[in-house]
Amino acid sequence: MIRPDAPVLLEISDLCARVEDQPILKGVNLTIRAGEIHAVMGRNGSGKSTLSKVLAGHPAYTVTAGSVLYRGENLLELAPEQRARTGLFLGFQYPVEIAGVNNLEFLRVATNARRTEQGLDELDTFAFEDLVRERLGVVQMDPAFLERGLNEGFSGGEKKRNEILQMALLEPLVAILDETDSGLDIDALRIVAGGVNQLAGPDNATLLVTHYQRLLDLITPDYVHVMAAGRILRTGGKDLALELERDGYDWVDQELARLGAEPAEVG
Ligand code: ADP
Ligand code: MG
Repeated sequence: MIRPDAPVLLEISDLCARVEDQPILKGVNLTIRAGEIHAVMGRNGSGKSTLSKVLAGHPAYTVTAGSVLYRGENLLELAPEQRARTGLFLGFQYPVEIAGVNNLEFLRVATNARRTEQGLDELDTFAFEDLVRERLGVVQMDPAFLERGLNEGFSGGEKKRNEILQMALLEPLVAILDETDSGLDIDALRIVAGGVNQLAGPDNATLLVTHYQRLLDLITPDYVHVMAAGRILRTGGKDLALELERDGYDWVDQELARLGAEPAEVG
């Protein structure tokens, strides 16, 4: 929902970042206000995951120019865990499996770290079990998954549901979901999209990275951005995604040539 007077949660200005010696982000501009859902689309290799990881504070990526304000504060000087505790959430494109870390315990520790930051009481194991059982409903997940190692042996779809369960527990201010829809069958996609819709509200914002209109049929974005060669090349409303579905990305190369930038890798 677009409200021009809503507080700005994330303000990305001319953001440039590299990995090793390779410049990837080349001047990203994006402003996200409370209540908004943004979709970032674009071909493989255009820098979508890099943007997500830079925002989350992944140590492999170095910011070389530009700024990111999170609730008006410099996000880039916060450690990754501070970003998470203060409500920035990244749902990974490829969630990692961590054998030996119990999923329930992981979720409890993460939730309590977030609650402490919010000035709420920490939940003991019993209180947390009640909360987690309630939130399992958001993703229609079997409680048996709580007893396993974090993502250990989970299918692709189960990992993505577990990411949304984390999100449901952490109640982020800004949720970045990097291709949470990829690899999901249609039922899992509906469940994940339903979860995102339930959690989106007037005080938080969602940044969806996706390749597919089929997710945006279920989650209506306020803005659609097209990334190419490390920048946002075009921004529109939900119709832009339909246009991309119809016409593809051929116009991107022309636009990049006009800008004198090298084309993105075609994936
Ligand atoms: P997208 O998510 O849009 O598909 P990415 O952000 O994953 O794109 O990648 C953008 C570009 O950065 C790609 O060319 C990719 O190969 C490169 N890249 C990303 N991470 C690394 C890395 N760790 N080392 C080297 N190159 C990387
Ligand atoms: Mg990616």
